[in-house]
Amino acid sequence: MITIPLPFTSPPLRSNDRADWHAKAKTTREVRQAAAMVARRKRVKWPVAAILVWTVTDARRRDAGASAPTLKAVMDGLVDAGVLPDDNHRVVLSETCRIERGPKPAVRVELLPIDPDDLCECPACAHLFASVADFDNHRRTEC
Ligand SMILES: [Zn+2]
Repeated sequence: MITIPLPFTSPPLRSNDRADWHAKAKTTREVRQAAAMVARRKRVKWPVAAILVWTVTDARRRDAGASAPTLKAVMDGLVDAGVLPDDNHRVVLSETCRIERGPKPAVRVELLPIDPDDLCECPACAHLFASVADFDNHRRTEC
C-alpha cells in the first residue's frame, strides 16, 4: 500500500458545500496539483482500491461520502504525476472515503494494490470486482 499525505486539514471539496462554480474549479485545480506534487516519484502496482481518509479530532457527526469530489481531484493528480496510468475502473477498482479520529486533523489517500488473481469478473461485461460489496454495487448500478 502507498500513502499519499495531502497538505490539507480537511477535504477541500465536499459534495455538500455551496461554493460557486468558479471557486470550485479553482479548488479542484489546487487539489489536483497538490496531489501530483506529493505523489511524484511514487509508483504503485495496479489495479488498486483508493481510500481517502479524513482524520478529525472531535466526535462531531459528518458525512464520510461527501469527500468524494476531493478524492476525484486527487486521482486526477495521481494520473498527472504518473503514479497511475489512468483512473478508469480497471485501474482504480473502487474509490471510498472514510473518517477516523486522531490527534491531528489530516487528509491522506491510500492506494491498496489488489492482486488480479483475487478478482472475479462480471459475466455480463467483464467488469472486475474485489469484493462481494463491489459486485452487488456493480449489478445494481451498471449492468
Ligand atoms: Zn457487469
